[in-house]
Amino acid sequence: MTEEERLEKNNRISEKGKETRLRRQSQICRVFRVKIDFSHLNEFEKTQLKMIFVEAKWLYNDALAFSMSNEINKYDYKIITIHGFDKDKHHVTRELENLSSQMKQSVIQGIKHNIKSILAMKKHGRKIGSLKYKSNYESINLQQYGNTYKFCDKRHIKIQGIKRPIKIEGAEQFFDIPGIEFANAKLLNFPDGYYIAVTTFQNKVGEKRKYKPEIGIDMGIKTSITTSEGKKIKIFVGETKRLKKIQRRIAKRKKGSSNRYKMRKLLRKEYQKLENRKKDAANKIVNELLKHEKVYMQDENLFGWHKGLFGKAVQHSVLGAVKAKLIKNERVIVLPKNIATTKTCPRCGKVNKNITLSDRIFECSCGYKEDRDIHAAKNMILLSKLNQNTCGMQGINAFGEDVRRKHEQKCCNADLVELGSRNFYL
Ligand SMILES: [Zn+2]
Repeated sequence: MTEEERLEKNNRISEKGKETRLRRQSQICRVFRVKIDFSHLNEFEKTQLKMIFVEAKWLYNDALAFSMSNEINKYDYKIITIHGFDKDKHHVTRELENLSSQMKQSVIQGIKHNIKSILAMKKHGRKIGSLKYKSNYESINLQQYGNTYKFCDKRHIKIQGIKRPIKIEGAEQFFDIPGIEFANAKLLNFPDGYYIAVTTFQNKVGEKRKYKPEIGIDMGIKTSITTSEGKKIKIFVGETKRLKKIQRRIAKRKKGSSNRYKMRKLLRKEYQKLENRKKDAANKIVNELLKHEKVYMQDENLFGWHKGLFGKAVQHSVLGAVKAKLIKNERVIVLPKNIATTKTCPRCGKVNKNITLSDRIFECSCGYKEDRDIHAAKNMILLSKLNQNTCGMQGINAFGEDVRRKHEQKCCNADLVELGSRNFYL
C-alpha cells in the first residue's frame, strides 16, 4: 500500500465513523444477551470454544507481565512467544491456535485501556491497586459485526475462527425489530454457559409515551420500597439452600483437590443464578417505576443497612441496583440526604424531631396521621418541589463523572424486562 492509499483509507474510515456517530444520535442503544446452545456443538467445537477463553487468559497474562516489566514502553506489547506456567509451576511456552486475530487485538487493547484508566485515576489522586493476573477470562470483545461475528438467521450465529455457525437461543428478543443495527458484541464465559451480548441500535420512536402521574419512593428496611401511592414492594431474593449446601461441602474438601475445584465451579454457577435473579428483580422494579412521569427519591445510604443477615444484604444489593439504575434516568429527581423527609409534617410543616425508627405511624400535633413509609414517599415529591435547586446527586458517580450524560452517549446495559414476576409484588 502506498502512502497515498493509506491516507485515503484512513480518511474513508474516519468519514464512516462520523456518519455512524451522527446516526447514533437518533437511535437507542440496547444490549441483548443470547445463549449458545452448547449441546448442539460437536466435541471439536466445544474444545475450541473453551480454548478461546483459555488462550485469551494466556495472552492477557503474558501482556500484563510485559507491561509490568517494562515501565517505559508498557504499551508496546507484541505477540511473539506466550510464556506461562503450568499447574506444577514449570515454565512453558504456549501457542494461540483458536483465537482469531481480532480477538487477540481486543484482548491486548483491553489491557492497554485498563492500564491507561488506572494511570488516569492515580493521577487524580485516587488510591487504586494494580492489574492482577487472571485465572479466568470471562469476556472477549467481538469488535465488528459482519466480520468478527454475524447472524446467519434467528437461530444461528457465525463467530470468526469457528467453522460452523453456532446455534443460539434468545435472538427472538430483537431479531425482527425493523431497522435494527448490530454493533459490537461480547462473547461471555459464565458459570452457567456461554453467552453473546449483542449491542444493538434501533431508531427512536417518535410518538410520545404516556406516563402515569409522578410518584415518590421511599426505600426502607422493613418494606424494600414504598411508593407515594401507597404500594409496598417487597423483594424476595435470598440465598438458596443449595448454595449453603455447596459452601459446606467445599469447606470439607482438601485444598487443591479436583473435587474441590468441581465444587467451586458449582458454587460459581449458583452465584450466577443468584445474580441473575437480583438483576431480574431490579429490572422489573425500575421498569415499573419509570412508567411514571417523574420519580422522586432520596439519596439514602444503603451501605449502612448491610450489617445483619445475609438475606437482607442480598435485598439491599437489589435496592442498590435499583437506585443506580434510577439515578441514570433524567426523569428521576434525587433529594439530598439531609432533608428530613420522614420528620416533616406535610400539613403544617413542623419538623417532628422525636420520631424514631420504630414508629410505624407518623403522627403530628396538628392532627395529621399517615403510615410512616407512605408519608415519607409523599414527602419526597413535596419537598423536592420546595427544594428545587438542591438536587442531591445529579447523576454523578463515584468517579465524579456525569452518569446521565454518559448514559445518553454510550449505552446502558438495558435488558428486556418481563413483567409478572414472582420476585416482587406491587
Ligand atoms: Zn402537622
